[in-house]
Amino acid sequence: MNEMILLKLGELVLKGLNRRTFEDKLIANARRKLRPHGEFKVYTKQSAMYVEPKNDECDMDGAWEAMKKVFGVVGLSRARACDKDADAMLETAKTYLHDKLSAARSFKVEAKRSDKTFPMTSIQLAQYVGGELHDAFPNLTVDVHHPELTVHLEVRDDAAFVHADPESGAGGLPVGVGGRAVSLLSGGIDSPVASWMMAKRGLALDMVHFFSYPYTSPEAKDKVVELARLLTPWCGRLTVHVVPFTAIQEQLRRSCPEELFTLLMRRFMMRIAARVAMRIGAGAVVTGECLGQVASQTMEAMACTQAVCPLPVLRPVVGMDKEEIVRIARKIGTFETSILPYEDCCTVFTPRHPRLRPLPGEIEAAEASLDIEALVDEAVANIERVQVGG
Ligand code: ATP
Ligand code: MG
Repeated sequence: MNEMILLKLGELVLKGLNRRTFEDKLIANARRKLRPHGEFKVYTKQSAMYVEPKNDECDMDGAWEAMKKVFGVVGLSRARACDKDADAMLETAKTYLHDKLSAARSFKVEAKRSDKTFPMTSIQLAQYVGGELHDAFPNLTVDVHHPELTVHLEVRDDAAFVHADPESGAGGLPVGVGGRAVSLLSGGIDSPVASWMMAKRGLALDMVHFFSYPYTSPEAKDKVVELARLLTPWCGRLTVHVVPFTAIQEQLRRSCPEELFTLLMRRFMMRIAARVAMRIGAGAVVTGECLGQVASQTMEAMACTQAVCPLPVLRPVVGMDKEEIVRIARKIGTFETSILPYEDCCTVFTPRHPRLRPLPGEIEAAEASLDIEALVDEAVANIERVQVGG
């Protein structure tokens, strides 16, 4: 029988979110990610998900890598199915795990049966298979506390499965169970990490990028689209809404106090993000803001930008150190692209002395001469949408 992938599901017991919704989303997300790797049968049973190749053309290594990036999965193993019979399980372990059994010095067998009609208890099954493997592989000693290798035997309803230790899965919740949000994606290190973290908590995302041509180059935009593409193995297919931001920035530079420029600009980002969110039915805005990192990321500055956004602003990296953010960026593979040296729209008109704590009324006074609605309408009307991912 073919090799298959056995996935252990995560936090199933959730208030207000039933198991069915969780499993349906997980299956749909997994199916989409498996498509480039062949035809697979995907189903859930007894808090596990099964991915079975339908034929020999399937790329199991590709499927395995793809399944490691599915949120909602806590652990996964490549397994071989066999008859529900102790000797069949023993033979399968000997052949399927041959290399691992030959290389390890210590081992144990762990058996589990959810089919309670199976004639042996879990302990009897583990002892029998363990004893036979011990005889067959003289290199092995039994170590029940810290074995190098654990041989897992699982007797489920319609088959038995043999596998070695499971690997950690991506964790979190299936993308989409928490609804949809728009994520403000710059070319920096923080916002791809923030996006990944919220996708991990079950949000489907649309990306919004503010583009200041000709102050920022087409390469800077390509870099952001590439960052979005790098996130698609986790987040699924993404739309990047590229918002032309030059007119707003030039208007602000002409008519507003320089020290308030960053805050005023960020308020426009929030207004536009909220408009995009309303249009696509998203319920929150995600940013990569981190407390105290730069002038616009003080508590007061966040209050000032949040004030113009009717939706919750989610800032998953707000309490993280840069090293922690970088560690995640490296793990998810966005770091090397984030550090490519292209300018961002925020750095184009950076004030020499940005205001850390705007005074009450100061921001409103600076905005009084602006036709805010017209500026937002104009930007939103000229959004370019770029699709990434399969
Ligand atoms: P990042 O590393 O994500 O660029 P940062 O530390 O450089 O963050 P800022 O430049 O102050 O911080 O931006 C804070 C957040 O605002 C970003 O994380 C991102 O969510 C959003 N943002 C900034 N610039 C843009 C942009 N050009 N397009 C879309 N979102 C942006
Ligand atoms: Mg930035």
